Amino acid sequence: MSKSIQQILEQDSLTKENIIQLLKSTGEDEKALFAKSSEVKLNYIGKNVHFRGLVEFSNICKKDCLYCGIRAGNKNVDRYDIADEEILKAAKFAYDNNYGSVVLQSGERSDKEFVDRIENLLKEIKKLSNNELGITISLGEQSKETYQRWYDAGAHRYLLRIESSNRELYEKIHPKNDNHAHATRLSCLKALQNIGYQTGTGVMIGIPFQTYEDLANDLLFMKEFDIDMVGMGPFIEHDETPLYEYRDQLMSLNNRFRLTLRMIAVLRILMKDINIASATALQAIDPLGREKALKIGANIIMPNITPTNERANYLLYQNKPCIDEGADDCTNCMEARINMADGEIGYGEWGDSRHYANRRKNV
Ligand code: SAH
Repeated sequence: MSKSIQQILEQDSLTKENIIQLLKSTGEDEKALFAKSSEVKLNYIGKNVHFRGLVEFSNICKKDCLYCGIRAGNKNVDRYDIADEEILKAAKFAYDNNYGSVVLQSGERSDKEFVDRIENLLKEIKKLSNNELGITISLGEQSKETYQRWYDAGAHRYLLRIESSNRELYEKIHPKNDNHAHATRLSCLKALQNIGYQTGTGVMIGIPFQTYEDLANDLLFMKEFDIDMVGMGPFIEHDETPLYEYRDQLMSLNNRFRLTLRMIAVLRILMKDINIASATALQAIDPLGREKALKIGANIIMPNITPTNERANYLLYQNKPCIDEGADDCTNCMEARINMADGEIGYGEWGDSRHYANRRKNV
């Protein structure tokens, strides 16, 4: 006889089968899962929610990922690259408003000019904030040397989603060439961890061909890899990408949304002290999506502080929220939303992954 959700939630560890059962739960079972994950979050993390001011500074990209709206092959995108002084202004805004940390994200490039420029920007951000702003970067696959240079220049967290831990599935959602190899993604994550970054990864939920078993394996991969931070969100189809062809095979948006919440809840139970971001894509489906994720397990939110005139061009997926409001509006709106979710903003703090500190203590 299979176990009840209640029984599973009382266990000290979870098998793959347990995880699959939790991921499929609905109604009262789903409620019990969320009650448990909220409790774990309160016990291990507390009510604090930390900000990461997000600057999506360029949509120029050499990759051709089959799901992404800013893929190189999409000729309908207005490509932009925000000037350094505008990026630094956004970082200064984050500093002045006590955000604690910023995230620099963009399409992927690895030419020398780009690598040098990022190194310089990192140093400038440290300088303008009296060394106080924490910096996360999310700039795709790079060489070990580049990762090291950026670390030495002041970045201390790196986000690189594995997208799927299943190599075969990964190959179905990327072009089959050396520029999009699953093995490279894995070795990049390892390199980041070895250098000493707080290392973050994540997956998209509800992509075509994905099974519950794939998702359970993704969570177990994160645990096995001893990851410090996770950002995962629902897949949202974009009509100018190759995967749009499979739109009829997708679960409904609402089901992708609910499944993402269950993924976050199970991850919180599996990895109690990591940082989990409440993905912006959740809000593209439900106006209160990010707050719901905070309640059941997430503890990080990334207010968009990209200069307003370029926000509309960083459309990885459609229906992206907050593309027409300024950074000031964003702070006020966030504060109200987080209070509503019974959270407290850790202003002026880095809000580092506790898992990272615990993991380093044990070596
Ligand atoms: N170039 C960087 C960061 C930009 S993409 C990198 O490769 O890491 C950031 C994330 O957006 C991707 O990792 C992917 O998981 C997500 N994303 C892309 N297209 C998406 C879509 N259509 N729906 C939902 N998420 C998407």
